[in-house]
Amino acid sequence: MIKTLRFWITLLVSFAMIGILSITLLSGYYVTKENLINNSLEINRVYSMKLAQLTEEVFKGMQSNLQVKASEMSAEIDDAEKLTEKLADLISSSKNFNSLSVVNKDGVVLATSPEVGIVGKKLDTEGPKEALSERKNLISTPYRAATGRLLILISTPLWNEKNEYLGFLSGTIYLQEDNIIHDILGEHFSTDGSYVWVVDNKGMLIYHPDPERIGETVLENEITQKILLHKSGAQKIMNSTGKDYLAGYTYIKSSKWGVVSQTPYEASVKPLSGMVYKMLLYALPFVMFFFVLTIVLTERLSSPLRKLATFSANLKENGGQSECADIPTWYFEAKQLNGTIHEYAKSQQQRVADYKERSYTDPLTGLKNRRYGDKVTARWTMDNRPFSMIMIDIDHFKAVNDRYGHQIGDEVLKFLSGKMSEIIRGDDVCIRLGGEEFVILLAETDVQEAMDIAERLRINVSSTICPTNNNITISLGVGSYHSNRETILELFSRVDKALYQAKVDGRNRVVLSEN
Ligand code: GH3
Ligand code: MG
Ligand code: MG
Repeated sequence: MIKTLRFWITLLVSFAMIGILSITLLSGYYVTKENLINNSLEINRVYSMKLAQLTEEVFKGMQSNLQVKASEMSAEIDDAEKLTEKLADLISSSKNFNSLSVVNKDGVVLATSPEVGIVGKKLDTEGPKEALSERKNLISTPYRAATGRLLILISTPLWNEKNEYLGFLSGTIYLQEDNIIHDILGEHFSTDGSYVWVVDNKGMLIYHPDPERIGETVLENEITQKILLHKSGAQKIMNSTGKDYLAGYTYIKSSKWGVVSQTPYEASVKPLSGMVYKMLLYALPFVMFFFVLTIVLTERLSSPLRKLATFSANLKENGGQSECADIPTWYFEAKQLNGTIHEYAKSQQQRVADYKERSYTDPLTGLKNRRYGDKVTARWTMDNRPFSMIMIDIDHFKAVNDRYGHQIGDEVLKFLSGKMSEIIRGDDVCIRLGGEEFVILLAETDVQEAMDIAERLRINVSSTICPTNNNITISLGVGSYHSNRETILELFSRVDKALYQAKVDGRNRVVLSEN
């Protein structure tokens, strides 16, 4: 079945609404996701930077602690007992070191605190060697000590008053045990799976929440590679277990380490779950409102066209004869169509009315014709309306034609028509049956009254100069209709007989039809 305009508009609007809603939801989803990712990256970047700054400050503080004590230690370089005492004082005041030691210029340990069993021993591990050769403030790269511990050495050189090198004062941080780095980084542990790790300039993990992994080299990690290039920034990475993370990283210039803070990707985009559903929920009342509004508007838009279509279909069916419908036209196209269709309907109705009128009218005299007479008598009969009839024929009309010509003859016919029209009232009807024969139908008129009228007409015609410049006479037959006894045809024939009788009786007279 062919669909209506309303159907198509509703379909179109539905498509548009679903389309717009989908685009809105999708773009909302992706924009939010991107924001969450960028936020997480930025948070981790800033966080790694803060931790790096904090670590750097703590290390600088630790180093200056050592530096402050350097001259005291230099003064007591030959007294192992005093040195041990001083070291014990220092370690208790500054809890950042795991151990402290004084080492002479040959690398032999003079004193330690606490006692770790290396006093008198010569150190030939990386950290001490570096301190002895560099002879300046130093934070060593992580190395494994004679005790098997993985550690970092923070050292300051010792000089006597004559500026001779005596050795160094150093503090250690045990990477795989409780230490200051742990204290700084571990306390920022988070519940969403975020964590921090630190890598040194060789790609070795200095700090990791999993202590087992400290000391492991992670050169394959993309961020380690960036840190080795002294870069800071943020990016998405996959960790060693294949899980995606959003990470921020900062390179620390003084220690050449990198601090990395990372949050699981899943945790970062978690707020997205249920977001589309929620957006849909919020949008639903508006969608419903606009949908109802659309339905109403669609109805308002399509109803004039639908009514016009129905109206024009009716016009077609009834040959232009349809009641002019009242169609609301509030927009241009409908207004235009409505105007045109109604104009057409009106002209068509006028044409039909004209045609009907013509088909019931005698063109010469302007009186009604026989067809109209049949219609009127049929209606009156149906309405049980009594009526009478006068039938008229011009006397010797053939002679008029012969003498004055056909044209004058026509004028005489018009003259008689005029006389007939003058005497009738209200619902009476004058009819030209054909030739020079006429009928007057008199509504609600009894036969006596009809006889009077016929007589008056006869006298009037015969006493008036007609277009021949002479007088004419007419003969008339009169009768009234007896509905229960005869048909219209029988009435006609009865009155015709009376008219014939008038002719026979000598013309110019009225004869009453016998019942
Ligand atoms: P009667 O008195 O017996 O009626 O004599 P009549 O001459 O009138 O006879 P009839 O009624 O038979 O004649 C009819 C004449 O009417 C014949 C025809 O020439 C004339 N006629 C019929 N129709 C017209 C018309 O439209 N115009 C003219 N001018 N004459 C018509
Ligand atoms: Mg005749
Ligand atoms: Mg005649």
